[in-house]
Amino acid sequence: MTDARLPGKVCSRVRTSQAEFGEGSGHSAAYLDEQPPASRAWEAAATVTDPELPMLTLADLGVLRQVEVAEDGTVEVAITPTYSGCPAMATMRDDLVRRLGEEGFPAVRVRVELDPPWSTDDITAHGREALRAAGISAPGPAPRTAGPVPLSLGPVRHRARCPRCGSTDVALTSEFGSTACRALYRCRECLEPFDHLKEL
Ligand SMILES: [Zn+2]
Repeated sequence: MTDARLPGKVCSRVRTSQAEFGEGSGHSAAYLDEQPPASRAWEAAATVTDPELPMLTLADLGVLRQVEVAEDGTVEVAITPTYSGCPAMATMRDDLVRRLGEEGFPAVRVRVELDPPWSTDDITAHGREALRAAGISAPGPAPRTAGPVPLSLGPVRHRARCPRCGSTDVALTSEFGSTACRALYRCRECLEPFDHLKEL
């Protein structure tokens, strides 16, 4: 196994150099031939799924920001909260600790980063395709605001597109779908109801 099979994004976001984990660390040569701990830790953390959107991994969502392995083997994970009010952070934290534990990292610290704030623009192309495959309309471009993001309670316009037929001739049924992050729509073309993930 080599780093070559890892996407560039993964390599750039984890500390993987042999210098950090090799010289003077007391690890055997065989250990150093394996995938660097930070890469293994990133890959394990990246498989954790969002509790409210289980078709998306934390990597798909853009929630997983950084995975580092300290010299004592402690994994430090930085995640960022998604929708305000979505009570998902505690579950994500527990899932990360459990998943990394299964991968052989018993000590895990999860840090919550608020800056820069997460936006639905951070959802990857892979994540958007996974949403569509699950029958959920992916968010359109997020509204650009400086400073704190106001939480509007009034009617909002989304950029929903039917995940089944692709039509944009859709009608808002309810501002709140199965979770507060979603709005419920109905397609006027194929008449199917669907969830739309709100822009943020
Ligand atoms: Zn449709």
